Amino acid sequence: MNTTEKHHFQAEIQQLLDIVIHSLYTDKEIFVRELISNAADACEKLRFTQAAGTAIHQPDAAVSIALTTDDKAGTITFTDTGMGMTHAELVDNLGTIAHSGTKAFLKQLAEDKRPDARLIGQFGVGFYSAFMVAKRVTVLSRSASPDESGWQWTSEGTGGYEITPAADLPRGTKITLELKDDAKDFAHGHAIERIIKRYSSFVPFPIELNGTRLNTVQAIWARSKNEIKDEEYNEFYQFVGHDHEAPLLRLHFTADAPLAIQALLFVPGRNFEGAGMGRIDSEVNLYCRKVLIQAKAKGLFPDWLRFLKGVVDSEDLPLNISRETMQDTALLQKLNKVLTSRFLKFLDETAEKDAAAYEKFYGEYAKFLKEGVATDFTHKEALGKLLRFESSSLEAGKLTSLAEYVKRMGADQQEIYCLLAPSRAAAESSPYFEVFRERKYEVLFLYDPWDEFVMDHLREFDGKSLRHAEKAELNLEDTAKKEGALSDDAAKTLTDWLKESLTDKVGEVRVSKRLASSPAVVVDSDKHMTAGMRRMMKALSKDQDALPTARHDFEINPAHPIMVRLDKMRLKDSALAAQVAEQILDNARVAAGVLEDPRTMLKRLDGLLEKVLGE
Ligand code: ADP
Ligand code: MG
Repeated sequence: MNTTEKHHFQAEIQQLLDIVIHSLYTDKEIFVRELISNAADACEKLRFTQAAGTAIHQPDAAVSIALTTDDKAGTITFTDTGMGMTHAELVDNLGTIAHSGTKAFLKQLAEDKRPDARLIGQFGVGFYSAFMVAKRVTVLSRSASPDESGWQWTSEGTGGYEITPAADLPRGTKITLELKDDAKDFAHGHAIERIIKRYSSFVPFPIELNGTRLNTVQAIWARSKNEIKDEEYNEFYQFVGHDHEAPLLRLHFTADAPLAIQALLFVPGRNFEGAGMGRIDSEVNLYCRKVLIQAKAKGLFPDWLRFLKGVVDSEDLPLNISRETMQDTALLQKLNKVLTSRFLKFLDETAEKDAAAYEKFYGEYAKFLKEGVATDFTHKEALGKLLRFESSSLEAGKLTSLAEYVKRMGADQQEIYCLLAPSRAAAESSPYFEVFRERKYEVLFLYDPWDEFVMDHLREFDGKSLRHAEKAELNLEDTAKKEGALSDDAAKTLTDWLKESLTDKVGEVRVSKRLASSPAVVVDSDKHMTAGMRRMMKALSKDQDALPTARHDFEINPAHPIMVRLDKMRLKDSALAAQVAEQILDNARVAAGVLEDPRTMLKRLDGLLEKVLGE
């Protein structure tokens, strides 16, 4: 009886394999790291299952990883005594269920001119890297479940894979790679030894190569800081973080109270969420006295710190705690609070001690800090300290903290002002900025549409309210009438006429006390709304009609020549004056970024130009 089952790869996986087989020429050696990393994962799972008291096959077989090379046969073999895979797991894990990362990795490969194979592990498809070097891969696996039996999975990477029963296998997985002609070097022990030393020295299980023990298991985080070299830290980071670059920042600390903690945390060199990977998951592993409790522990840090990688070891955790009950214990919450506060303090210290490093960090990760301000009440204040913005008092490109802003504030200034604009030039020429320039008040320039919401959530800093420039109730100090300005009575008459002329296009019309060089400005009638918020709501809303329509108040500058002349024109040619009034309103809307469709005003503008040019 032929018991061979034939299976097809899922389309996305086949696509991935085609690229892996035909297009990835560099960094082929990373397949060693990926297969060892899978073996280590399987060992870790086994250790955990065993610790939880679940019965396993061959309970006395120690967990370990062994590699053998055979240069005559041109093969390399990876053996582990870990969890192994059942028939269903073989089908699911090696060929059927594409991880969410598959698509992202395919996209990355398609976009990069020189695809970076080293990233394959990041995307959760590391196993397939074996096909960069192998013309055939054979997996023999025996699950740790006592009732299961063994299976053989084999494939050439194209046209699917075959599964057949395999009797009398020991617990775990044995993967044999029949190397392609151009990859035969990997069948030599010395080549493999170099690669293991490079990528896998921190694997927390013994690794043997051709019968010789290579790594010594070490919990680097439990060692004293001053005896660890930078290279060791970086190697460890690359191991836990599945990264090939050096980390951007590193925090290694020990605490005794309120909890006994040893932690080694890293910030990756770049923000992977920004690199098109979709939402990333925290990769901080939780240990208790050097025994892994949970890989990629959930709840250890708030969501907005999900870019962190590393290890947290706490003696205060009960060793027998299960992954499920771990999730919402009070202990975990306490741990979360302590770790988060410590990390924020570290960022603040970094900003002080190494401005360049902090600036680099901020460039990559500002988005996460802002998310924290908007979602995490507990750490809002500490996060507020870490924000940076451009400011009217600094040259372009320079960033300020809120603390530095407060230090620069004059005695008469009560609030911290900020202005959302698409660019620095737009901010500086904004009518809303005029009163600040005149009064020499510093304004923070916000360029990210989310910043206004972030500032709203922050609300205050160092006891000073944060105020949007548009909403600031700030008057020009110099109330003495400028020469040629309309008198109070004349201005009142003009605003009344404007209200009548513009009727339902505006809310209130009033004399502005904030304008120095612009003729007029619009202000959202809703005390809590800014133009930027309206734009965001509109961009985010699926049902545009359901949005409340904005009503704008219209403020005029009675000292501006346009207003003075408009007042005269009103008496001479009220139809023309009405058109000009509408145009001024539209101009103010453009300045505020709230004009929906500028094309509608072009006709009017053409008409006005015609009049200006005369017969
Ligand atoms: P990832 O390791 O990120 O999950 P891989 O492509 O490297 O992605 O591996 C896919 C899956 O195959 C693993 O999640 C695991 O379930 C299974 N697997 C791979 N190698 C082994 C092994 N040596 N022992 C047990 N399971 C394995
Ligand atoms: Mg893997």
